[in-house]
Amino acid sequence: MKALVYHGAGKKRWEEKAPPQLVEPTDAIVRIVKTTICGTDLHILKGDVPTVGQGRTLGHEGIGIVESIGESVRNIKVGDKVIISCITVCGSCSYCKRQLYAHCKDGGWILGHKIDGTQAEKVRIPHADNSLHRLPGGVDEEAALMLSDILPTGLEIGVINGRVQPGQTIALIGAGPVGLSALLASQFYSPAHIIMIDTDDNRLSVARQFGANTVINPTKQNVVEIINKLTDGIGVDVAIECVGIPATFKICQDIIAAGGFIANVGVHGKSVDLHLESLWIKNITITTGLVNTSSTPMLLKSVQSGKIAPEKLVTHHYPLSEIEAAYEVFGNAAQEKALKIVLSA
Ligand SMILES: [Zn+2]
Ligand SMILES: [Zn+2]
Repeated sequence: MKALVYHGAGKKRWEEKAPPQLVEPTDAIVRIVKTTICGTDLHILKGDVPTVGQGRTLGHEGIGIVESIGESVRNIKVGDKVIISCITVCGSCSYCKRQLYAHCKDGGWILGHKIDGTQAEKVRIPHADNSLHRLPGGVDEEAALMLSDILPTGLEIGVINGRVQPGQTIALIGAGPVGLSALLASQFYSPAHIIMIDTDDNRLSVARQFGANTVINPTKQNVVEIINKLTDGIGVDVAIECVGIPATFKICQDIIAAGGFIANVGVHGKSVDLHLESLWIKNITITTGLVNTSSTPMLLKSVQSGKIAPEKLVTHHYPLSEIEAAYEVFGNAAQEKALKIVLSA
């Protein structure tokens, strides 16, 4: 079979690789139908994630058909169409028992990281019963693909950690796929006013279509001034950071109201300044995290009923065999106006 293989910083190739085999009785082998590229894959290719070894197949998102199962798999059957969760869940370790699946001792984020991932014709999924979600007939495959990672991440690490409540004013910093997912998911909780902050005017106009009430481009506008005006000088109740650089984390600290929540979603490669000299008195809460994907079944029902339409995040389509070209486009997301790229087998 073919797979997109990492060969060290800056190097990847769509190449022939031995197809995956069942290893544990709890495994399933899934034939990929659709997969996509995540910002995290670009971090890996930059060499930012040294735990990814050379020869690793990338990718942690996908939709597929179950081709074979180990003898202990009970809920998933051969022939099922499934969402592959970016988090592998053993279901029985001490973290899983606390529903902290992101930190599962025999799973967590391992796909396209510690074991071969989904940017391939086939993938081995450990703990298949807990790590795959059966896709009911009639659900849009592209919408479902957004439930592998970005929509649960936006909801759990942005909106739920940030305790978004009805009537609040919230700010999202970063209108990339995850920031826009948080924007969609925040609307489950009816905030009164949603502000999106990003340096890319195209992404800001997408954010408006997705429900942002105010958009701010910090390269052209004064973020603090605009937010002070909007909130009578109080600031926002929740600031959701979806970029992962010092400048955007600083914006969160500059605009947060007393009693507010700063929910960090962004993947940070550098340390940030924490301005405790101004925040110590403000009764704020800062949260961090990696998605647990415990919200995936709920999100699947919301997609099925039409309450949320994450397929709107898809901007480009490629055959899986042209994944290298798709990476070029995703790597130039601003110029290409790219959000999520769907690769179909
Ligand atoms: Zn991802
Ligand atoms: Zn576990």
